[in-house]
Amino acid sequence: MGTIYTNVKSLLQELEGKAKLLLATKERTVQEIQQAIEAGARIFGENYLQEAEEKIKQIGHSVEWHFIGSIQKRKIKKIVELFDVIESVDSIEVAKIIDKFSKEYGKIMPVLIEVNSGKEPQKSGVMPDDVLNVSKAIKELKNIRLVGLMTMGPNLPNPEDLRPYFRLTYELFEELKSLGLFDVDEPILSMGMSSSYKVAIEEGANLVRIGTLVFGERKKKVI
Ligand SMILES: *Cc1c(COP(=O)(O)O)cnc(C)c1O
Repeated sequence: MGTIYTNVKSLLQELEGKAKLLLATKERTVQEIQQAIEAGARIFGENYLQEAEEKIKQIGHSVEWHFIGSIQKRKIKKIVELFDVIESVDSIEVAKIIDKFSKEYGKIMPVLIEVNSGKEPQKSGVMPDDVLNVSKAIKELKNIRLVGLMTMGPNLPNPEDLRPYFRLTYELFEELKSLGLFDVDEPILSMGMSSSYKVAIEEGANLVRIGTLVFGERKKKVI
């Protein structure tokens, strides 16, 4: 484990030409995020609105802020106001509310659909069989555009065991791509975390979400 600066540098080098780097910064301080920015990190993911608000205000929008947490409907207005991309859209209803507030703020919000690739009832995300329907519904909304898919996969200790879930999400990604449902030139496939990003990239991820590997262990397990 090096410093945040050297960790980001070497990770960016390793990922170059393969995938973009999003740093998951829940529980990390503004200072820690600044070190990552100095090393070249440009995309940050936050899970909790309240925690993110102060950080985004201090650091600003010279970097990109992705909302990657589960979405509570009453917080959507503020999420739309603060964030540049929402990665965790998990229903048509949520998409419609994002659309409504995006209009209010004069934004066209880029979103990803979170896929519940493990089909786990207790987890958020759209069930694989419903992704096509949700994508088509988003296409009808004017103030929101679909730019990719995101998945977590089940909480399994061995990254090799996540491969089928990443593969399933990749297949959905390719299907939506071939149907012209993404409203962007280079759609995002956001999958893989500290322990699993290598497997995720082998399965087609072009954005990986990393926390621990750069910043060290978190105090409490939040995900
Ligand atoms: C925390 C988090 C990550 C990063 O997890 P690490 O294991 O610390 O790399 C990625 N994605 C989401 C949605 C997260 O909440």
